[in-house]
Amino acid sequence: MKKIAISAMAAACCLMLFTGMGWAAKYQYVTIGTGGVTGVYYPTGGAIAKMVNKKKKLYKIRATVESTGGSVFNVNAIMAGDLEFGVVQSDRGYQAYNGMADWKDKGKQSKVRSVFSIHPETITLIASTESGIKTCDDLKGKRVAVGNPGSGTRKNSEDALSTCGLGFDDLGAAEGLKAAEGSKMLQDGRIDAYFYTVGHPNGSIKEAVAGRVKVQFVSFTNTTDVLNKFSYYANAKIPVGQYPGAMNDGDVPTFGVKATFLTSSDVSEDVVYAITKEVFDNFDDFKKLHPAYAVLTKESMLEGLSAPFHDGAMKYFKEAGLK
Ligand code: GLU
Repeated sequence: MKKIAISAMAAACCLMLFTGMGWAAKYQYVTIGTGGVTGVYYPTGGAIAKMVNKKKKLYKIRATVESTGGSVFNVNAIMAGDLEFGVVQSDRGYQAYNGMADWKDKGKQSKVRSVFSIHPETITLIASTESGIKTCDDLKGKRVAVGNPGSGTRKNSEDALSTCGLGFDDLGAAEGLKAAEGSKMLQDGRIDAYFYTVGHPNGSIKEAVAGRVKVQFVSFTNTTDVLNKFSYYANAKIPVGQYPGAMNDGDVPTFGVKATFLTSSDVSEDVVYAITKEVFDNFDDFKKLHPAYAVLTKESMLEGLSAPFHDGAMKYFKEAGLK
């Protein structure tokens, strides 16, 4: 009797040990850093996670998404090993890899790796009509949200203001608000305008145009110098038709960057390969997951990147004849 009890206990222990180990070995968890929930990064992280999670039995990967402060936060968290992937503006990826701007003191973030690029993002400034802000010059003395610390937006706001010779000090107030707060504060009349470097359409701007206060996009046309100085910028237009209620007549000229999907050289080749393969092999399904992806082609998703490709991504691109 005693013998039976002992072997039963041993069997139970073995089972617990095995299932416990089995559970731990079952899935590899990866986290994708995005942005605020009313932006395009958050649904983008969700779209990528969805593609790979569909095949969780095959790859044994579980991808989860985290809402974060944006590009700068994501790069730093990837480098610290707190996130495996992140959506990051192409200009911010360039600066991190080359040790510029926010990474000037920390130096080159040489472990940053590209997976692929995604949708275009424009430097977007939306103002209340009652503020009288129509062009960059009108921003002097105004209360403007220039992007939260950790966002990619913040440096773009500075560059946009420089196109008319202004800096943060020339504003009445340069608020470090998140984009989700920006739309509310604009509607409450507590700020005159807010910057957001973002793909279109997005929830934040939809909220801003849907309120009681009438709003308009502000154009940036004097962009030659900033485009010559920084190769990652290109002229772009805000598709105003996507925001019924905005008080502009036609698409608004500004400049822009690209959203990119980045990782670290410390992340395993298998994981990066699996994610790249699922997004590209199911490209038509992926494209349907957000209207900002309408312009994407497989080829365009290999462009606009400044850090070297991760080996796992490269392996897939070679197999698929894309490289
Ligand atoms: N480009 C923004 C940033 O990095 C985020 C935009 C978004 O969440 O769609 O701060």
